[in-house]
Amino acid sequence: MDAVRSVVDSGWFVLGPRVREFEKDFAEFVGAGDCIGVGNGTDAIELALRATGVAPGSEVVTVANAGGYASAAIRSIGATPVYVDVDPETLLVSPEAVRGTLGEATAAIVVTHLYGRVAPVDQIVGIAGDRAVPVIEDCAQAHGATVGGAHVGTVGTLGCFSFYPTKNLGALGDAGAIVGDDQDLMGHVRRLRQYGWSQKYHRTEPGGRNSRLDELQAAVLSALLPNLDEWNRRRCEIGLAYRDGISHPDIRHVPIRDGDVVHLAVVETGRRQSLEAHLGGLGIATDVHYPAPDHAGSETRLPVTETACESVLTLPCFPEMIDAEIEMVIEGVGSWRP
Ligand SMILES: *Cc1c(COP(=O)(O)O)cnc(C)c1O
Repeated sequence: MDAVRSVVDSGWFVLGPRVREFEKDFAEFVGAGDCIGVGNGTDAIELALRATGVAPGSEVVTVANAGGYASAAIRSIGATPVYVDVDPETLLVSPEAVRGTLGEATAAIVVTHLYGRVAPVDQIVGIAGDRAVPVIEDCAQAHGATVGGAHVGTVGTLGCFSFYPTKNLGALGDAGAIVGDDQDLMGHVRRLRQYGWSQKYHRTEPGGRNSRLDELQAAVLSALLPNLDEWNRRRCEIGLAYRDGISHPDIRHVPIRDGDVVHLAVVETGRRQSLEAHLGGLGIATDVHYPAPDHAGSETRLPVTETACESVLTLPCFPEMIDAEIEMVIEGVGSWRP
């Protein structure tokens, strides 16, 4: 409330000192050279793609099991998503599939750190580097996750974050950011987020948008950022409690490995409807992330992705959960007789 009040009292509401402060705070947190606040996570992906040269007609390689956000960003440019299948164990993008899909028309790759689990972005950067294809990291579910000691978002060409209220770091509304080290690229993103202006009313960049971060959200995010590590620790604790406490022949846990954070606690089961109904009857809410693959309705076949969309189920996981609630979920699943 102090942060909100001070913004209201200041009378400065868009792209001011609080946004600059949060950009500095978040760049420092992830260990990036620079950070640019934008309107939301989908815009972050779109602006990152535009800045790296994705244009109408370009092809962008990505996965089809991550909720369609990257697809929306790619399509808004007039580019075409080219989908690759995921690893059946992690449900993350498979580097081998990426290698086999890169072609002459590939303008970029979007790597999604799904559910907080770290995708093999280092391997993909290696594969893409041979062809100088930019790699955009979608870190909207993975604030604070690390790969080889580096934060996600700093391994690829640019990293994109969402601060939608339910994310691991959430604002009191919509917000997003792009992190990166390349000053030319980041300068380009900075112009794109505000009409393509290089200075006020001077539009020098085609493809510019209005996607600014406002001062209220920035002030709130700066105030909440110090809690992120503790919230991530608690989310991880919940995910590990499910992994250790739920052992059922019809349930597979999406693994949690070193460097991962837990955004969503996801299991796979061939009897999803039955488990959903059972838990619902006990007052335990679940959700499906995500029920439809992005390539639905096309000729593309992605067997692992399609199976995952029919079998994934998300159990409750948020830092405010108390131990008794975690126990209730574990016992609830334990009493399921499919
Ligand atoms: C939430 C999310 C986004 C989009 O963020 P918004 O701020 O809602 O636009 C992008 N990618 C992933 C993986 C997400 O979970």
